[in-house]
Amino acid sequence: MSETHFGFETVAENEKAKRVAGVFSSVAQKYDVMNDLMSAGLHRLWKKFAIELANVRPGQRVLDVAGGTADLSAAFARRVGKDGQVWLTDINNAMLGVGRDRLLDEGIMAPVAQCDAEKLPFPDNYFDLVTVAFGLRNMTHKDVALAEMRRVLRPGGRLLVLEFSKVWAPLEKAYDFYSFKVLPWLGEKVAGDADSYRYLAESIRMHPDQETLKAMMEQVGLERVEYFNLAAGVVALHRGFKL
Ligand code: SAM
Repeated sequence: MSETHFGFETVAENEKAKRVAGVFSSVAQKYDVMNDLMSAGLHRLWKKFAIELANVRPGQRVLDVAGGTADLSAAFARRVGKDGQVWLTDINNAMLGVGRDRLLDEGIMAPVAQCDAEKLPFPDNYFDLVTVAFGLRNMTHKDVALAEMRRVLRPGGRLLVLEFSKVWAPLEKAYDFYSFKVLPWLGEKVAGDADSYRYLAESIRMHPDQETLKAMMEQVGLERVEYFNLAAGVVALHRGFKL
């Protein structure tokens, strides 16, 4: 049986998805408020940067993978307009429920699908843009998921991966203190769940750094791959094209 990481733990591959599901089912209702608190609102700026770089135009087709509570989907839906399509997808029903409610509250009629990024239920060469924000880290076979995202892109389409990454070395100590002491404490106080936020900190440390993720994207056939560090590398936005 192959093994993989769940945070700092080593688990059987078929165990990881269940453990990740446990995390997101537990935090779904408090997910948005925790994001604002943990990042002091910065996650909104990181997503705004991704939205600007995506540069979607009216009529385009967008796939939001691991879209969760749908803030990216909502922003893209406003940009593609009536003739475009934005699909909100996620593997987790609780997260997707919050996302679907947000879209409806904002008056957006977008299709929603519960699916695994490693097996996307879409045809080849379909989307102009695929995005995955803070989702790739949680996937068991990141290479398979990246290849799937490339498969569903049309030639000329682009993939954007927004994810935690490797912070600038002089900030590492302070960032570790914040991640391993403050985050679980905040998770306990606000969401009644320290463990999920401990997993968040650990999963960030286990995630490939900027250059490694760039190489992984190139390995699945994406081209002109580049990345942009945000907040001194706390987060990186990678972009690659299917040519
Ligand atoms: N994209 C949203 C955002 O930026 O706020 C949500 C990110 S949340 C940290 C990570 C999401 O990835 C969760 O909703 C989780 O259910 C989803 N996820 C984890 N593994 C997945 C998989 N294999 N396929 C699809 N979604 C997955």
